[in-house]
Amino acid sequence: MKEIFLLKLGEIVLKGANKRQFENRLRQNVRHRMKPYGDFDVYIMQSTVYVEPMNESADVDGAWEACRSIFGVVSLCRCRPCEKNLDAIYRTIEEYLGDDLDCAGSFKVESKRSDKAFPMTSIAISQEIGGRIADARPNLTVDVHHPAYTVYVEIRDLSAYVHGPAEPGAGGLPTGVGGRAMVLLSGGIDSPVASYMMAKRGLEIEAVHFFSYPYTSQLAKDKVIALARLVTRYCGRMTVNVVSFTEIQEAIRDNCPEEFFTLVMRRFMMDIAQRLARQDGCGALITGENLGQVASQTMEAMTVTGALVDIPIFMPLVGMDKKDIVDIARKIGTLDTSILPYEDCCTVFTPKHPKTKPTLGQVLNAEKKLDREALIDRAMEQIERIRVAYHDESGF
Ligand code: ATP
Ligand code: MG
Repeated sequence: MKEIFLLKLGEIVLKGANKRQFENRLRQNVRHRMKPYGDFDVYIMQSTVYVEPMNESADVDGAWEACRSIFGVVSLCRCRPCEKNLDAIYRTIEEYLGDDLDCAGSFKVESKRSDKAFPMTSIAISQEIGGRIADARPNLTVDVHHPAYTVYVEIRDLSAYVHGPAEPGAGGLPTGVGGRAMVLLSGGIDSPVASYMMAKRGLEIEAVHFFSYPYTSQLAKDKVIALARLVTRYCGRMTVNVVSFTEIQEAIRDNCPEEFFTLVMRRFMMDIAQRLARQDGCGALITGENLGQVASQTMEAMTVTGALVDIPIFMPLVGMDKKDIVDIARKIGTLDTSILPYEDCCTVFTPKHPKTKPTLGQVLNAEKKLDREALIDRAMEQIERIRVAYHDESGF
C-alpha cells in the first residue's frame, strides 16, 4: 500500500481573500519541485497539499527531502491512506506504524475528523483505536499527557490517513506570491543567506554577480553558481546574471581618488542591478549588507550607494550579528561553499583607507571623470545568463 505526503499550510491559511492565489502558487511550486523525482499527483484540499506518487518508480525519499524545504509549508508528514472504517484504520496502523509502537513505551491516539459525515466523533475514534492497540500490546501504556509516541488518524473527504508525528516544514510564504526580486550575489556568507530569507517571505529570486576576470578567477565564478544552486533548494530555480566588471573596476582605479574606490564600485553594482531588475520584472533589490560590518556598510555609505536606486533595497541581515548569520548559512547548507577561499571583486583594488562617512556630493565629484552610461551599456551588453536548479548537479 502506498505512502503519500500531507503538507500542512502555514501562514497562508490566514490570508483570507488571497488564499486561493496562495494555494495555487504553492501547488505549482510543489509540482515543479517534484518533477525530478518521478510522477507525483499534487492537489490541495482542506488546507492541505497532498503529494501522491503515481507509480512504483517514483523516488519517494528524494521527493520527501525536497518537500522539507518548500516555503509555505508549516508541517509535513508521510502517511498511509486507508478506507474510512475502524478495522481498516487499525490494520493500517499495525502494518505501517507497528515497529514504531513496539519501541515506544507509551502512546496515545489523536484523531481529527474533517469529514463530518463520518459517524463517530474524534474522541470516540481515538478511544476505540487506542483500546485495540493497547489490547494487542500489553507492554505499551496509554499516556494522554506525555506519550512517547503519538499515532494520528485523520478522517478526510477522500480517505482516512494514519501517520506518526509530523515534522516542521520550511515555514514562510510560497515562493513567488510576493513577486520577484534581484539579489546581488557575491561568493561570501551573507548574500546567500539574504536570498534565502527573502525567498522565505514569498519572493522569487533572480541574481546578479559581478565578476572581474582575471582579477577574480573562474573558480570564484563557479563558487557563486554553486551557491545559487544551493539556495534553489529552497526557492526552486534561479537565473544568475554574470556581469563582467573588469572594465568598470579598471576605469575606477584609473580615474577616481582611492578612498572612494569601493563606494563608486558599489554604486555601479546597484545601478546595473536596478537596470537588470527592470528588464526582468523584479520589483526590489536584495543585498547581504549588515550595518557596521565593513567600511562600505555604514549608514552614510548606504545612503550614497542606494541614492540612485528607486525601488526598495531589502537588506534582511542589516541588524543581525555575524554569528546568527553564520548559523543560518550552516543550517541551509551554504556555509562550507561560502568559506572556500576564492576572492571577490570587492577585494580587488581595495583602498587602504576607505571613506566611511561619505557625502553624496563627494562621491559624485569622485566619479565625475567616468563616462558612467558608456561603461554600463558595455557591461550590460555582455551579460552571461546561467540558469540553476537544485536537482541539476552541474557546478561544484
Ligand atoms: P557577502 O558575505 O554577501 O559577500 P560581505 O559581508 O562580504 O557580504 P560586501 O563585500 O561589502 O559584504 O558586500 C555587501 C553586499 O554587496 C553583498 O552582501 C552582496 O549583496 C553585494 N556584493 C558584494 N560583492 C558582490 C559581487 N561580486 N557581485 C554581486 N553582489 C556583490
Ligand atoms: Mg563579500
